Amino acid sequence: MTTAERPLLAQEILALASEAVPQLSIATVYRNLKALQDEGTIKPVVLPGQNPRYELASYGHHHHFQCRRCGRVFDFKACPGNLEHLAPTGFTVEEHEIILYGQCRDCVVTKADHSRPLAGC
Ligand SMILES: [Zn+2]
Ligand SMILES: [Zn+2]
Repeated sequence: MTTAERPLLAQEILALASEAVPQLSIATVYRNLKALQDEGTIKPVVLPGQNPRYELASYGHHHHFQCRRCGRVFDFKACPGNLEHLAPTGFTVEEHEIILYGQCRDCVVTKADHSRPLAGC
């Protein structure tokens, strides 16, 4: 496994799980995701305007990188730390989300072959 960790869409989970359980349905995936979320095992990762992706809740504080070419979202651990100083005077920062956009390792390598960039990005 040389790929970075990444949160998955329900559809991606279905595609992966279908290799082991061919009769699996998207409804079953959603039901299991909801149960896992209710018990606190996983949490949703929501990027603006996109379907939720899911990752382990135990992964801790981290941020996300979305590849504009293939659309996949990856985790990265680096964090700039306290961003309190970016907020207007008198405001209190409670948490932050950071999403970097660019091209993943796979897409940079295969750039010459790719002719289907995501629309609108
Ligand atoms: Zn990519
Ligand atoms: Zn952070």
